[in-house]
Amino acid sequence: MKLTPRLKEILPDDRVSTQPDQLEAVSKDESTLPPVIPKAVVWCIDRNEIVEVVRLCCNTGIPITTRGAGSALEGSTIPHAGGIVLDLSRMTRIVDFWPEDLQVEVEPGIIYDHLNDHLKNEGLFFPPSPGGSGDIATVGGMVSTNASGIYSVKYGGTREYILALEIVTGTGEIVKLGNRAVKRSSGYNLVELICGSEGTLGIITSITLKLAGIPEDRLKTAYKFPDEKAAAQAVSEMRRYGLDIAAIEFLDRRLMTALNKLKEYGLEEVPALFLEFHGPGAVLDSNSELAGDICTEHGASPLRLAEGQNPWEVRHWATDAVKHFKPGYTILRNDVAFPISSLPEMVEYCHHLGDENGITMFTFGHVGLGLLHALMLARPDNADEWRTAQEINRKIIEKTLSLGGTISGEHGIGLGHKDQFMREHGPAVDLMRRIKRQFDPKGILNPGKIFD
Ligand SMILES: Cc1cc2nc3c(=O)[nH]c(=O)nc-3n(C[C@H](O)[C@H](O)[C@H](O)COP(=O)(O)OP(=O)(O)OC[C@H]3O[C@@H](n4cnc5c(N)ncnc54)[C@H](O)[C@@H]3O)c2cc1C
Repeated sequence: MKLTPRLKEILPDDRVSTQPDQLEAVSKDESTLPPVIPKAVVWCIDRNEIVEVVRLCCNTGIPITTRGAGSALEGSTIPHAGGIVLDLSRMTRIVDFWPEDLQVEVEPGIIYDHLNDHLKNEGLFFPPSPGGSGDIATVGGMVSTNASGIYSVKYGGTREYILALEIVTGTGEIVKLGNRAVKRSSGYNLVELICGSEGTLGIITSITLKLAGIPEDRLKTAYKFPDEKAAAQAVSEMRRYGLDIAAIEFLDRRLMTALNKLKEYGLEEVPALFLEFHGPGAVLDSNSELAGDICTEHGASPLRLAEGQNPWEVRHWATDAVKHFKPGYTILRNDVAFPISSLPEMVEYCHHLGDENGITMFTFGHVGLGLLHALMLARPDNADEWRTAQEINRKIIEKTLSLGGTISGEHGIGLGHKDQFMREHGPAVDLMRRIKRQFDPKGILNPGKIFD
């Protein structure tokens, strides 16, 4: 079958491409995994077009990888060889808005920051705030990976905000899931099942979100610590006290060095916590004072930031700073999450493994959620070094699982962590395979991602 002419029967010529530069652009995501060139890329702008494309692919067994912005970090957006990329970045409309109910319905391609720009006129926002990608990530991509971010400590991740979804299944059926009721006990929660499914169960064509009110006031503070473990202990204690904190970001000393190198921020090169508090003035003051006392008890003192320097602008560049720290080196990453009391032990463990094996290790993340990114730099063409870094990664994951944690706190499984998925979920993976068959009997939706 000649695929391109068939696709052009469904879509205008300028929304079907086999041009090498356009195929190359959608052959990868932001992971360091190898790209795969698809057969074609198509841009759909409504559900009916998506249904037609899916029916064609279902009848001909052609894999579809749906794409938002392609900012995923675990290869979940890398296409299948012989498949097509379904790019939804042009579906950016706000379909409906109910400010009085704190709800909005959007198309999947709308960018996170653009949505919030619109919502702020009504004093509302969609909180998750992915640390370094809010300016590119689409809401469809965030739903599909259950993204979280700097404000998830207080407000939760994407999953907590989805009220309803419209999806197109792997046979081209349109199904509406959920509704606008904020509390319900009405059968199976298929909305939550789709969230985090990385495009393997359905193509999301509309999303109804719950929103939060923009806080009356904000207070940002930053502390420096004598070592990484002390910072982690302070975080664990702040959480135990039940302090109302909107954001707790941890940056280790090496990351501060990398940020200076990339952006010449002039930061002190010490382990740091960036904190933000939301609420009316008196609440802010009491929470930030108590947080300050806890940090001080762990040897911290206030971190000097340059006049007018926004900690979140600094934090935004964390991933890029690591990427550019050592030219010729590749990032090996993980995205583990575990019960909060294990944070000090995990931070110390990661640094110990890096130091002991001579591998450059960076740790940072939305640690108030018990979520830690440990990024290593190694050269793929240096077999020993690469193997060592992979072995460290394996040990970090093993330790996480032994502590009751997960191999992915927010980036998803994609291709990057597929080999460890079974270790976390065991026989439940087979149940997941059976669930996938109900949504996608021909196995055309992003096959080979999460599990085989
Ligand atoms: C610098 C940087 C910082 C980051 N920081 C964070 C962070 O703090 N927190 C965080 O959680 N993530 C972070 N990420 C990862 C990434 O931005 C998120 O995973 C984001 O949610 C992906 O959105 P996207 O539009 O780029 O999705 P894509 O990469 O296009 O897609 C991601 C997955 O969703 C599927 N998908 C996309 N749209 C749909 C749809 N409409 N229907 C069905 N499936 C779909 C894709 O097939 C793929 O499996 C970061 C990435 C970078 C590069």
